[in-house]
Amino acid sequence: MSHVLAAVAWPYANGPRHIGHVSGFGVPSDVFSRYMRMAGHDVLMVSGTDEHGTPIQVQADKEGVTPRELADRYNRVIVEDLHGLGLSYDLFTRTTTGNHYTVVQELFEGLHRNGYIVPKVTMGAISPSTGRTLPDRYIEGTCPICGYDSARGDQCDNCGNQLDPIDLVNPRSKINGETPRFVETEHFFLDLPAFAQALGKWLDSREGWRPNVLRFSKNLLDDLQPRAITRDLEWGVPIPLEGWRDRTDKRIYVWFDAVIGYLSASIEWARRSGDPEAWRRWWDADGAGEEARGYYFMGKDNIVFHSVIWPALLLGYSGEGDRGGEPGDLGHLNLPTEVVSSEFLTMEGRKFSSSRQVVIYVRDFLERYDADALRYFIAVAGPESQDTDFTWAEFLRRNNDELVAGWGNLVNRSISMAAKNFGEIPAAGELTPRTARCWRPRRRRSRRWAA
Ligand SMILES: [Zn+2]
Repeated sequence: MSHVLAAVAWPYANGPRHIGHVSGFGVPSDVFSRYMRMAGHDVLMVSGTDEHGTPIQVQADKEGVTPRELADRYNRVIVEDLHGLGLSYDLFTRTTTGNHYTVVQELFEGLHRNGYIVPKVTMGAISPSTGRTLPDRYIEGTCPICGYDSARGDQCDNCGNQLDPIDLVNPRSKINGETPRFVETEHFFLDLPAFAQALGKWLDSREGWRPNVLRFSKNLLDDLQPRAITRDLEWGVPIPLEGWRDRTDKRIYVWFDAVIGYLSASIEWARRSGDPEAWRRWWDADGAGEEARGYYFMGKDNIVFHSVIWPALLLGYSGEGDRGGEPGDLGHLNLPTEVVSSEFLTMEGRKFSSSRQVVIYVRDFLERYDADALRYFIAVAGPESQDTDFTWAEFLRRNNDELVAGWGNLVNRSISMAAKNFGEIPAAGELTPRTARCWRPRRRRSRRWAA
């Protein structure tokens, strides 16, 4: 038996989940966790809602509510969706808990102490009418490279080049159309190039990954740049440094805080279980968790955060990048064993899109069908190693021909025959050594859903 961490991607708290979302992170991680529990491993399956960042601030402003109110609402909606699907999290929490803030700040301080976080003055865009920062993706303009007139501040979707908003021709705010003003602003950056070597060594030692995920991850190492980890924003985790702690206009960037959720949720789970140190069995690389394995589940658009950024944070906190250093109070932490990334599910040949109404929401699905019908479809026909298409015709065929006619009949006939010959369904007997290896019932933990 070993300790297995099932680290499931954190859904962003800005709307209900659709079946494309749950085919990437939700159902695959649950199938994995249930199997690992049956095989006798001690599984810790954690996740929660990702609730900080500009999109939530912008949407809250639009609706005239606070970001917290908006996050509360969508946390409840997402919990209902995932609970309805029968996902067996040990803890499903949120990034707005006090515990999460403490753990995020501890990692920030550890990385800073070890020299992996550096300040830098950059040019940031602000909205002249509100005085607020305009993040890159909320600025649109003409691409200076190909001339496409709807390039985003961070990237041109036409030619694929990474951009800086200040380079756009005729930049404008996507929120209200005004022309942004560019001003100097100081931010902290994570020194990603200092991890290139350690990340390369770690990726070279990986076995059994889906080949496209490993290839994609290794390619990312060719162009590592320092990456901003703070934002001009009021909604987020405060920066835990002297002179910054009390500032209300600067916060830790949402991507930095969200990936730390796997660790903070494990710590929260341990505290709730009555054994506050229990999380170390999945995380402590030198002691209790030395043999533990960690599997991270997500859609392919999130690979970079799990195969580069999160491992870099763990390496830096443990003092294992080019600049060396010492582990902080949480100790020397385990890197992921495997990044399990899914491809995309399309719908009748088109990409899922809530804004373009190409969507099937989990809640609507569950009003008409049992969760098992969808879970079965995703398990057998989901986008495991290539994009796959959801069609209602194929869903009905899989459900009727395979799940009901094939599997359902097998179960039904076996049970009827047993009832006919024995007058009852016989009680389970002793397991033989061979069956015991693959089936060892475990005490069920209570499942917690924070709201
Ligand atoms: Zn372009």
